[in-house]
Amino acid sequence: AAKREGRGNFQFFSPEMNAATHEHLLLENRMWGALNTEGFELYLQAQVELETGRVIGAEVLLRWNDQELGSVEPSRFIPVAEESGMIVPLGDWVLGQTMKLLAQWQREGLDELRLAVNLSARQFSGAPLLARLDELVAQYAIDPSLMELEITETAAMRDPEATRLLLRQLRTRGFKLAIDDFGTGYSSLAYLKLFAIDRIKIDRGFVKDIEHNPNDAVIVAATIGLAHSLGLTVVAEGVETQAQWGFLRDKRGDEAQGYLFARPMPAGEFREFIRLQAQPVPDA
Ligand code: C2E
Ligand code: MG
Ligand code: MG
Ligand code: MG
Repeated sequence: AAKREGRGNFQFFSPEMNAATHEHLLLENRMWGALNTEGFELYLQAQVELETGRVIGAEVLLRWNDQELGSVEPSRFIPVAEESGMIVPLGDWVLGQTMKLLAQWQREGLDELRLAVNLSARQFSGAPLLARLDELVAQYAIDPSLMELEITETAAMRDPEATRLLLRQLRTRGFKLAIDDFGTGYSSLAYLKLFAIDRIKIDRGFVKDIEHNPNDAVIVAATIGLAHSLGLTVVAEGVETQAQWGFLRDKRGDEAQGYLFARPMPAGEFREFIRLQAQPVPDA
């Protein structure tokens, strides 16, 4: 805005802008440090089959615990990482760690659990992404169908034709593909049909008041119907209550994720969580 005011008409940075710039630089700087000193960690949040509550996989969610700043929320550092371009090396690290974990699970016999990983718009660019994924798949010898790539609706719609081509190439390699935060961007239903995707993740915003807000209830039910008629699976995000779970089961949703089932947890804890789940329930 300062530039548009023209020459000789000085605009000074406001204290707010200064603070924002300062925060940005501070976070960016600390993130580079964290990437080199194991300050980042993968957390896993279970995804369950709606009908039974059985765990079928997990979403990988990045956590950052900084030596000076303490724990920093993704909603605070991911936008900075995206803006600065740092999301590319950071996202690359997440991809590598995820594949490494899948390879480890495969050795331990946990070979039916899928891991979903978030891709930012910056990472979601043709040739470099494909080359990197090929390299990692070869390095860790994993089955790409155990890995799901999540892209947001907004990122997908930036350049729909490029997205269509890239999704097709990813699908050819065997990766599973999901549209994240569905319903929050400009969704074009026509494109949904053209994209080679497997899943739609209904944003938590629609699930939150599903029992009380008739609009949300209608949107969720219609999205499930639409997805099924296109041969897609639906995952509901942010399920926190039994009532929400019940509603989604009634509407024949497929899968769910949310605090009701499990919070995001460190990979080691998730391993234990799965082990306990696998125990047969004793008869009452
Ligand atoms: P997302 O991909 O939509 O992830 C779901 C978010 O909802 C996670 O927040 C998760 O902790 C939270 N959540 C899950 N269940 C519930 C629930 O029942 N109630 C509530 N209130 N929240 C729930 P988180 O971990 O803070 O991540 C926020 C966003 O940051 C993610 O949204 C994703 O867009 C981004 N993000 C996280 N990790 C990565 C990453 O490795 N790469 C990229 N590019 N983005 C990431
Ligand atoms: Mg996600
Ligand atoms: Mg989401
Ligand atoms: Mg979200």
